[in-house]
Amino acid sequence: MSSRFFKNYGGYKITYPFGERVIFGKREHHSGVDLVAVTDEGNAVTDWVVAFDAGEVIEAGYNSRSGYFCKIRHDETAVSLYCHFKKDTLKVKKGDRVEKGEVLGYMGSTGRSTGAHLHLGIAIFGEYVDPEKYFSKELSEVNRLILTHERKVLRRGAAGEEVRLLQTMLNFHGASLKADGSFGPATHEALLEFQRKRLLEADGSAGPATWNELMKLNKKA
Ligand SMILES: [Zn+2]
Repeated sequence: MSSRFFKNYGGYKITYPFGERVIFGKREHHSGVDLVAVTDEGNAVTDWVVAFDAGEVIEAGYNSRSGYFCKIRHDETAVSLYCHFKKDTLKVKKGDRVEKGEVLGYMGSTGRSTGAHLHLGIAIFGEYVDPEKYFSKELSEVNRLILTHERKVLRRGAAGEEVRLLQTMLNFHGASLKADGSFGPATHEALLEFQRKRLLEADGSAGPATWNELMKLNKKA
């Protein structure tokens, strides 16, 4: 039986969580989770690592920190990073399309690692987030964005990932914008409409009050 992360074992265990930690005597931010496979008897084992979701391999190779690694782009927002594969077991290369459950490589300890494990990082809009939160069942696409994003004041003419989030949220609330990350007339109109409907000051710029309303997940609120 396979799990979301491993080919032959249904179980897995997080041996080191996301967040602050001390490693090699230095305090650092752990930008992902460390995982091992676990047998039915509860023993930690190594296994083939699989892709938790489909995507395109955007990097694969070796560096002194990650060891043998690969990076997969899953969609417009999410990229995952798999590190420390055993030497000569990496099965994918840049440009490959991988399916969910496809083998990427064998768990190892190459790079900056003290024992065989999988380091899994998940970046949303280029920022690493806690994979446990990412995978938690309650977490919808929208929740995921809320968890991971600063809310900047955005006006017409703005561009970038924050605008894409704004458009995604406006769409969640009923607009039908192209989430292209560029704050043009259509986004402006949709924002004004949203502000009027929510009895906010209809100024066409997304400030704190507007973001608060946008982030309310109950569409009827
Ligand atoms: Zn790690």
